[in-house]
Amino acid sequence: MQLAARVNRIAISPTSAVLAAAERLRAQGADLADFGPGEPDFPTPEHIQRAAIRALEQGKTKYTPTPGIGPLRDAICKWHAAQFGSSYTVPECIVTVGGKHAIFNVFCCLLEAGDEVLIPAPYWVSYPDMVQYTGATPVPVMTDPSDGFRLRAEQVSRAITPKTKLLIVNSPSNPSGAVVPAEEFVKIYEVCRAKNIWLLTDECYSHFVYGNQKPYSLASVPGTKPNIIIAGSLSKTFAMTGWRIGYLLAPEPLVAAMTKIQSQSTSNPTSIAQYGALEALTGPMDTVTAMLAEYSRRRDRIVSGLRAIPGVTCVEPGGAFYAFPSIAAHLSKEIPDATTLSKVLLEKQHLVVVSGDAFGTPGYIRLSYATSIDRIEEGLRRLERFFVSAAAAR
Ligand code: PLP
Repeated sequence: MQLAARVNRIAISPTSAVLAAAERLRAQGADLADFGPGEPDFPTPEHIQRAAIRALEQGKTKYTPTPGIGPLRDAICKWHAAQFGSSYTVPECIVTVGGKHAIFNVFCCLLEAGDEVLIPAPYWVSYPDMVQYTGATPVPVMTDPSDGFRLRAEQVSRAITPKTKLLIVNSPSNPSGAVVPAEEFVKIYEVCRAKNIWLLTDECYSHFVYGNQKPYSLASVPGTKPNIIIAGSLSKTFAMTGWRIGYLLAPEPLVAAMTKIQSQSTSNPTSIAQYGALEALTGPMDTVTAMLAEYSRRRDRIVSGLRAIPGVTCVEPGGAFYAFPSIAAHLSKEIPDATTLSKVLLEKQHLVVVSGDAFGTPGYIRLSYATSIDRIEEGLRRLERFFVSAAAAR
């Protein structure tokens, strides 16, 4: 079939492909140890569910304003101000169909063929394809595992060319869990501002940071607003992945351009999901704290378990809910790369992991610990068993 060139520039998300293969095995009755999903295993908190049910019962099932219902836009600005110390107003805020859609639409608004977008690696799988869809060029900026994969201002500086239009920073990071330290974030921002480059900060995992770290936004720094774009999501923070509610905070002309695109595409995010989101942002946050405590326990278990496997090294993730170990020492003639390894692990051990190749970082695999401690233990056992027997056979 003759499809438009822009469709041929992108591929289906590799994480969706892994999940689909795992689903096929599960349907055949396989007992999977599943480190695949990039979503919380917790249910959406009940008070949020109730708010959406109430909205449904009250007939709030019609089109809403394109950029979202006024009370939700207001709540997003107030919540962001309370959580991070920012100062956005309603015209600088748009509600989107998930954080992914916010980022996709920003790219559609800003990027043209010939533009370059800096994407720190390891990166979230969707960024390069979304950039390519617009005709612009993704430029990976490699971070250093010995520095915990944290992005540094000098790495950004070195990658900038006259064509650079935008830098995207995802902190905490999917897949590495790296958190950019606040003072480094400001340096990165200053590099961008000096060169008139947009800094898009994807705050999707903002509330899952461990130890004594606190959720952080660059928008808390006075004066940054004209050069930064905040993409946020309720998916992970409030265990609302299927609700598809995200948002964008940015200078008014950009929000107006996004609104124009939404008005000609999705019209508005789902009405009742917006009422659920309103409750999430104005109601109690104790379920978020409870989820964080559980992720923290799981993080400790998975990181220590991975490090105990001979030949595996693992940077301690500062945030999000992924471990990203190096398995390079276990690659061989039979299993030459992480993509082959992830297929073999699925076939032979019914163990689901995502190859680091998908995240622009060969020699690594991503394990989501949004799963119970029991399943983490089981998965670690299978991984160790596989590596030990493969090493013995070599
Ligand atoms: N950004 C990152 C880094 C992600 O990992 C994801 C989802 O996995 C998203 C954005 C988008 O999330 P959603 O579209 O569900 O809000």
